[in-house]
Amino acid sequence: MSKYAIAIHGGAGTILKSTMTAEKELAYKSALQDSINAGENILKSGGSSLDAVEFAIKSLENNPLFNAGKGAVFTNLGKNEMDASIMNGKDLTAGAVAGVTNIKNPISLARAVMEKSEHVFLAGLGALDFAKKVNAEFENDDYFFVQMRYDQLQKAKESDRMILDHTEDKFENGEKKFGTVGAVAIDQHGNLAAGTSTGGMTNKKYGRVGDSPIIGAGTYANNNTCAISCTGHGELFIRSVVAYDISCLIEYKGLTLKQACDLVVMDKLVKIGGEGGLIALDNKGNIELPFNSEGMYRAKKTSDSDIYIGIYK
Ligand code: ASP
Repeated sequence: MSKYAIAIHGGAGTILKSTMTAEKELAYKSALQDSINAGENILKSGGSSLDAVEFAIKSLENNPLFNAGKGAVFTNLGKNEMDASIMNGKDLTAGAVAGVTNIKNPISLARAVMEKSEHVFLAGLGALDFAKKVNAEFENDDYFFVQMRYDQLQKAKESDRMILDHTEDKFENGEKKFGTVGAVAIDQHGNLAAGTSTGGMTNKKYGRVGDSPIIGAGTYANNNTCAISCTGHGELFIRSVVAYDISCLIEYKGLTLKQACDLVVMDKLVKIGGEGGLIALDNKGNIELPFNSEGMYRAKKTSDSDIYIGIYK
């Protein structure tokens, strides 16, 4: 059997063991395990990294614990506007959607943009028209209503602040919520893929879009270098063109994956106040999971190693 590898994340931020219950920790770990299993089953049977990334992300989108799909945060107007992107490292094709509502799995819609349209990036109402055309799965508003997310919005509105899911203040119940999701994978044929999906920021206004659906910022994959999916303060990740920067450092400067990740996440981002992290995989199957925040929900699995699941520093 040829080698394969997959890594996933469920968001980075102020994730502290002191504010986590044993029950919650178990729920997060089993969600991460389910996602890895969904991706690995595809890779093990010789399937593509693109399928593995899409299915690993769908599993997280369907889980209300994460800020993507079902668990997407609320905008200022009480809607769930979601962003997602996916990229195929084999031929540099990519697809992305921003500000979509009522779409069960935004990652699959992003993939449809890549494979069934002549475009890369569709937004808002136009993206929904396209979704109908390709028979994307829609859900009504109730499906996306998660009480905890709604409470987050009320809290954010009190102070008229926008809250990044990963840096929000403590809520009354002492919980902190995080959760943009992403996956990167290399399949048995040596092809890389990356994807990211998010609800963005609680109380966001004006059609705000973060880094997650932006190719080169939140997501990037290139068979010559690496596959990257980011999570963190989107504005800073856009300005730092994080995912492409790591690929460039490998391609043009000859850095290893670890060197490139350390430079971008622990140095360049920190200098401009860009809190967050990313998952990275190079074309030899090496994996890095760096973050400069308190924690990041993360997991990885390769064909020749056991699953690793991490939450805290
Ligand atoms: N990067 C996402 C955004 O800014 C948020 C996150 O990663 O939690 O929309």
